[in-house]
Amino acid sequence: MNPTIKRLLGYCARYPRWLIQAGICLLLATGAEVAGPLLIKLFIDDYLAPRQLVWPAIAAIAAGYLGLQVLSAAGFYLQSLRFNRIAQAVVQRLREQVFATAIRLPARYFDQHRSGSLISRITNDTEAIMNLYVQVIGLLVQKVVLLCGILISMALLDLRLMLVCACLLPAVGGVMWLYQKLSVPVVRATRSLLSDINSRLNESLQGMPVIQAMVQERHFANAFAEVNQQHWAARLKSLKINGILLRPLIDLFYMMVLIGLLALFAREGLSAEGAIQVGVLYAFISYLGRMIEPLIEMTNQLNQLQQAMVAGERVFALLDEARESTEGEMRPLQGQVSFERVSFSYDGEQQVLRDVSFTAKPGQMLALVGHTGSGKSTIISLLMGFYPLDQGTIRFDDHPMASLSLSAVRRSIGLVQQDPFIFVGSLAENLRLGRDDIDEARLWQALTEVQLAEFVLSLPAGLNTLMEEGGKNLSAGQRQLLSFARALVGDPRILILDEATASVDSQTELALSSALAAARRGRTTIAIAHRLSTIVDADEILLLSRGQVNERGSHGELMALGGHYAQLFEMQSQGAWLEEKRA
Ligand code: ATP
Ligand code: MG
Repeated sequence: MNPTIKRLLGYCARYPRWLIQAGICLLLATGAEVAGPLLIKLFIDDYLAPRQLVWPAIAAIAAGYLGLQVLSAAGFYLQSLRFNRIAQAVVQRLREQVFATAIRLPARYFDQHRSGSLISRITNDTEAIMNLYVQVIGLLVQKVVLLCGILISMALLDLRLMLVCACLLPAVGGVMWLYQKLSVPVVRATRSLLSDINSRLNESLQGMPVIQAMVQERHFANAFAEVNQQHWAARLKSLKINGILLRPLIDLFYMMVLIGLLALFAREGLSAEGAIQVGVLYAFISYLGRMIEPLIEMTNQLNQLQQAMVAGERVFALLDEARESTEGEMRPLQGQVSFERVSFSYDGEQQVLRDVSFTAKPGQMLALVGHTGSGKSTIISLLMGFYPLDQGTIRFDDHPMASLSLSAVRRSIGLVQQDPFIFVGSLAENLRLGRDDIDEARLWQALTEVQLAEFVLSLPAGLNTLMEEGGKNLSAGQRQLLSFARALVGDPRILILDEATASVDSQTELALSSALAAARRGRTTIAIAHRLSTIVDADEILLLSRGQVNERGSHGELMALGGHYAQLFEMQSQGAWLEEKRA
């Protein structure tokens, strides 16, 4: 059996009770359905043909027939209810698993995959898998049982006629095989295009201000239309395959078998010896009709099966991705951070960090400066364990990072990112981010420290103000301050500021630097800044250039060195002086 299907089926083994109930309902319903024509045959051959109209017996047959119909309808209804319940439970579980996996994927995965494709896996693909349970499995089992029942009843009536009818099975099997061969590549392409559509939609929605500002609506609409068109073409191709292979071909086989049956009946009828009874012929034609429907439906379901199989492949590929390690020692950190000859490349080709070493002792402040793209944020990402190291060691309190639990390390670090993310939810929720033990007083304290308390007080709903998606109802500076406060409320041992004050005005920044001085007390701080005035009192300043540490030392030492740092500082203070004069 196909391994994906096997794995998908494994999920329903968790619900043995529902499965057994569904199976019993299915057997009862099928039995009732198959017995119907047998009763009619009894009526035709024993009462109608010999013209022996024994009314009580006929009434009993009619009542029995009716009862069987009701039983079969109820049975099919109940089994489909059970299968649906299993399907919903399985999909629920799959979605949970996919999401739980997705949030534990390493940063590299998100660098290489578009978020739309992830969304597609969590929604569309799991939906296709649900169809497998709701429609395909229930239906296939039901139809196979029905077919077996029909074949057994046929064999009881007349073995030769049954063999003629059974010729249908290998023919339909051949069609199924051919269908499988032709349609898998098409279905695979369709699902991947659907994921493309999602990716594009997601990207366009996020970049809407840029699209509108650059008047690129038409360009993006065209690009979207193109993928949409490709998806349509792929769907059409698969519909064509369905159209040719599924119904018409099987109908043709049906007609051929029917002709075979009638021919046999005519020949036997003429020879009179061992003639086939009319009732038997009726039962066979009735069975043949009942046989053809399940066969057509089964081949129809192949399409769904294919969709589910390809969707399953995509979902399992995600579930099997290597997740971030959850192992390692859970020890509280004292705050010493050191890099030892760390080199790193995102793509294995372009070297982003070369041989970077430094040590920040508990309570010290380390500053990273350097031109855009010199690797400052990359150092922070490595420190947070977002990427595995290529070379060198990172140590916290003399323990190599690899031996520590990632979550323990991250809990000890307060990170203010270059482009902070604000979640949909209240301001307080954004500050706490799940750390429910933090009381309101602590929130206000942090807000005051980052100079945001006044703003929050001015909001009608205060801490309960709802933040829009991505913090759209905040200014860029406010978002940074909020993220700063978020880092502070956790009382981290290590504070990391990546351009934490780049978007706030000089006055706020000045006020912040005194707050920062207070926040730094008793904490190790690693600060990245373009505005050098904010880091002059750092214990050590590293000047990075193309991933290498070019100059290092305190502000005084670097100024005395008279190198690039000194030049930069001179330039910036001149700029500040000009600005002041202009004001
Ligand atoms: P800035 O001052 O502009 O924030 P930076 O010093 O923080 O710059 P980094 O973000 O560390 O610079 O980037 C260093 C280099 O690594 C850049 O050349 C960038 O192209 C590359 N880079 C950064 N992030 C990734 C990533 N996720 N995948 C691949 N390359 C990356
Ligand atoms: Mg950066």
